[in-house]
Amino acid sequence: MADGIVIVGLDGVIRFANPAAEHLFGRSSASLIGTTFGIPAGGSNAEVDVIRPGGETVSAELRVVDTDWESEPARLVSLRDITDRKRAEERAAQLERERRARAEAEAANQAKSEFLAVMSHELRTPLNAVIGYAELLDLGIGGPLTAEQRQQVSRIRASGRHLLGLVNEVLDLAKVEAGRLSLEIGVARATETADAALALVQPVAETRGINISASCTGDPDAVYSGDEDRVRQILVNLLNNAVKFTETAGQVRLECGVTRQPDPEARLAQSERWVYLRVADTGIGIPPEQLSTIFDPFVQVEGGHTRPNDGSGLGLTISRRLARLMGGDLTVRSELGRGSTFTLWLRPADRALGAAERPRASIEPSRPVHGLADVGESLVHELEHIVASFVTRLRNDEVAPGARALRTSQLADHVGTYIADLAGVLIAVEETAGQPSTLLADGTAIQRVVAERHGAQRARLGWTTETLRREWLILAEEIERAIRRRSADVRGRAFTEALTIVSRFLEQAENLSCRALTRTMMESAGTAERSSDDDPDGTASALLGATRTDVEER
Ligand code: ADP
Repeated sequence: MADGIVIVGLDGVIRFANPAAEHLFGRSSASLIGTTFGIPAGGSNAEVDVIRPGGETVSAELRVVDTDWESEPARLVSLRDITDRKRAEERAAQLERERRARAEAEAANQAKSEFLAVMSHELRTPLNAVIGYAELLDLGIGGPLTAEQRQQVSRIRASGRHLLGLVNEVLDLAKVEAGRLSLEIGVARATETADAALALVQPVAETRGINISASCTGDPDAVYSGDEDRVRQILVNLLNNAVKFTETAGQVRLECGVTRQPDPEARLAQSERWVYLRVADTGIGIPPEQLSTIFDPFVQVEGGHTRPNDGSGLGLTISRRLARLMGGDLTVRSELGRGSTFTLWLRPADRALGAAERPRASIEPSRPVHGLADVGESLVHELEHIVASFVTRLRNDEVAPGARALRTSQLADHVGTYIADLAGVLIAVEETAGQPSTLLADGTAIQRVVAERHGAQRARLGWTTETLRREWLILAEEIERAIRRRSADVRGRAFTEALTIVSRFLEQAENLSCRALTRTMMESAGTAERSSDDDPDGTASALLGATRTDVEER
């Protein structure tokens, strides 16, 4: 029989055990006979655990029926081994528990993501207002600030921006996880997105003394299919990281192009060609064991150069998820101490992009609050006029004697771009008062670039700081005059505000371009020093003088 059978006398002592019972108890029938068998109280049907001599437990189903044994009343106990069935049942129950726990966790995660998405939004609105008003204070709209107050305001802005950055990242991640992030897939040119991203990071790179450049030698006409704003976001994140983790005098390069052979580690669908945008740095690198974890949320390499409040460890997580949502991927290669290379892979657009098709971001004008936008618009109208009067005055100014001989394009340099951006800032200040101020930040970034290039250009013409300051003064006067000409169209307060904003930006630009002028002069002095063998003890200032005169004569 498959079932174990034992006969137990009414005194509870075992009288007989069959081979199946011997197997079940793990004992011989001789050792079983004569021992006491405890029949569970009250049940002729029960489940029991049998403990074998080795300690192993076997589950058994037990049935008891009355019988006679050697002419005496006794009980027949049959035992069926149900260990396997019990284990299967337990496994099924465990699986069910796990399934429920998973479903609960997923629901909780979904709820968490929903909560974060809503909360982040609620946080962003007042945060933008804090930053927006700090910007307005900084621009001197509420009255002039002392140096100490300006520093305090700049701390409010910096902390506000940092917090906003974190909130934006959390919001992005929450949205991706909750499946609520919508992408606007379009067609865009890789070089243009690369340039836009570079322009945003360049000022930071320059202040940290890092050489940053972009080249699309791979294919200057590469066009991808993706959400241009998100691609720029990924690139800015990669470039910021590259700058952050690279020492002064290091290099950051942004390359793009098209390839038939993407890196094998990229998780990509089958396609003949892929557009790549690659950010390579000569920075600290990433240890091999961390290469895959840096894409996990909140992971930062330990012992890296990041300060605790610098970054969130979310940038790469979001970037990779965005890349994958667009049907591409983000991969990394790195060598400790030598640098890292992050590559963004994107689907190529299946047709070339016509100039007229370029998707443009439209900025909806919101509520006009001060009339600053009117001043901005008028500056745009007056732009050519301002540039022309500026050039004429410069030509006839005694502080810039060399100016007479210069071409109009040399004199005007990029002043037109600068004024256009200044106008854009006035419009943005009005539209974004208390609201997101990225336009304002972009505007100032563009002005910084123009101001710095202008200083460098003037250094190459051999101008002195004094001449450059005079030039900025002339420009300021011409802009102010143009604003005054239109003052009849604008209410009084907006007019004063516009003048305050403009003079604050002009002051910043003047200082930036003077610094760039000095830097360029020092650099060319350095070059002259290296190439000048017969001037062994030429001091930097002597060389500066010589260089300047050389250029002036030329
Ligand atoms: P965050 O930069 O905000 O800390 P990220 O997700 O962008 O977050 O990056 C995660 C981590 O990956 C960083 O903290 C850093 O340790 C490492 N990392 C990212 N980019 C680089 C890089 N170019 N060079 C070295 N380490 C990097």
